[in-house]
Amino acid sequence: MKLICVIGVGYVGLVTGACFADLGNKVTALDIDEKRIENLKKGILPIYEPGLEELVRRNVKAGRLSFTTSYAEAVKGAEFAFIAVGTPSGVKGEADLQYVESAAKSIAQNMTSPLVIINKSTVPVGTGDWVADIVKRAQPKPMGFSVVSCPEFLREGSAIGDFMQPHRTVLGSTDKDAANKVAQLHLALRAPIVITDLRTAEMIKYASNAFLATKISFINEIADICEALGADVKEVAAGMGYDTRIGRHFLDAGLGWGGSCFPKDVLALAYMAEEKGLDPRILNTVMGVNYERRKTAVEHVKSLLGGSLKGKTIGMLGLAFKPNTDDMRDAPSIDIASELNAAGATVRGYDPVSMDVARRIVTAVEMFNDPYEMANGCDALMVVTEWNEFKQLDLEKLKGLLKSPVIFDGRNIYDPAVMKGMGFTYRGVGRGY
Ligand code: NAD
Repeated sequence: MKLICVIGVGYVGLVTGACFADLGNKVTALDIDEKRIENLKKGILPIYEPGLEELVRRNVKAGRLSFTTSYAEAVKGAEFAFIAVGTPSGVKGEADLQYVESAAKSIAQNMTSPLVIINKSTVPVGTGDWVADIVKRAQPKPMGFSVVSCPEFLREGSAIGDFMQPHRTVLGSTDKDAANKVAQLHLALRAPIVITDLRTAEMIKYASNAFLATKISFINEIADICEALGADVKEVAAGMGYDTRIGRHFLDAGLGWGGSCFPKDVLALAYMAEEKGLDPRILNTVMGVNYERRKTAVEHVKSLLGGSLKGKTIGMLGLAFKPNTDDMRDAPSIDIASELNAAGATVRGYDPVSMDVARRIVTAVEMFNDPYEMANGCDALMVVTEWNEFKQLDLEKLKGLLKSPVIFDGRNIYDPAVMKGMGFTYRGVGRGY
């Protein structure tokens, strides 16, 4: 059993804390958001993540997981401090490190014994050295510490499984002893452990996310070509995916990527490159292709409705940036809703989980608690998020409720032949029109 503190109790921090507690460690999880901690103490989670509530409850009950807003309490006696605070985009596309800086200072001011500080937040290359410098300067009196980069690769929606069965653990440090200690902490996960230097570890995270984003933008471009040439991108992706050099993952054509990671990480990597005088052409194109998807989706709905959206009512099935999460950060639904609004349409929305978050973010969307209620009287529906429950909708019932049976399936969850056979005016993405 190790004494661990986790700084930042969001998607990554809460999962990290609960999982390390479940592996038998004693974890204190800290956040500066008092309401968040107050709720967690009552068993109310700040985010939706499958299985997390039960995992937190079990470990709190076992006395292995506790929550606090006090750095003194969290850091006291800890052997490991994980930084898992947000690193959102700054005004120029750079990663905003203010939360990391503040966390590092607070750790330094409150540590009572030698500590390994582990950075789980996605941070620009060079941040580990910067954090070490901040800690050194903020300590009231010199005390031993090391900084290790341990980027997180979990995905929202399958975060616990991803944390517990990672494809690899990446550790970077100039202090090999510290890296080995952190490696020991991860041994129970039985994944390959890559130990490297700080900067390389930080870069592995950015390069991984940028590659995955590239894969999605690539298949989206292929989807457009498929459409023009009469091929079906779903079958193209399946056919490509059998090749182990390519793999089937991240080859789903649709509305493109969003969320809290890919957008800001690709942007931050491009920014880092540009700062060094490089021209990151692939990254810039990957972003351009991605954000075009949202606009062209609205164009497709417009053309399905005869060329105008003025006065039309469009229902969005799904609002979260992907299924199994309530995360709305840079969700395609946000841009799609504002494009539809700008074209004169009334926009409705339904999501199985993210309604509360969505209400705060997409205020011009009329929210419904049921997909059929939402569909009632709509001129068209758009599948925006591929929640499983949308695959099981009663399509006959839906057709009867719609003013006109028009569906733009932005996630290719339905079979075009079946939809057309049922009398829908249907369009998916890249499916040979
Ligand atoms: P989040 O916004 O869900 O959570 C961040 C938390 O940090 C918030 O609760 C906030 O109140 C807290 N915080 C901010 N400043 C603090 C401080 N000084 N001290 C203590 N707490 C503080 O963020 P997230 O999605 O968990 O992401 C965290 C980091 O992990 C980011 O760098 C992100 O890029 C990276 N990451 C995220 C994911 C993901 O799927 N969300 C996956 C891999 C990596």
